Amino acid sequence: MAQYIPIQNYWESPRFHCPVCGVEMFTENGGPTEDPCEHVLFSWIDQVGDFYNVAEEINFLLQDGENWCSPSDEEFLSRCPNTAVLFALESSGMACGPVSLTVIHAIKFPESRSNQDDEA
Ligand SMILES: [Zn+2]
Repeated sequence: MAQYIPIQNYWESPRFHCPVCGVEMFTENGGPTEDPCEHVLFSWIDQVGDFYNVAEEINFLLQDGENWCSPSDEEFLSRCPNTAVLFALESSGMACGPVSLTVIHAIKFPESRSNQDDEA
């Protein structure tokens, strides 16, 4: 099952870099980059409810929205690749009232080295 890691985003910058290779995948303006790296499974903004930069391998999961409401659902996580980690950047503040925003970035980490040795 994929991991889900909530992170308090104190600086409230939407910018996010791929933890595997360092490529910028979400910009300062709060939008996805047009050319994400191979590790990105998707980005998701709770207030919008839309997915961005969806990798082909989890497209099937998004078509089947019956059993889950958000990417933090256990049902959703259990169907993501095992090496996936969902980083949930949570920020909150005051606008015309208390506002909170969660942006989830799903990253697929490479298989561990011990698994790759099997190919030799
Ligand atoms: Zn990457």
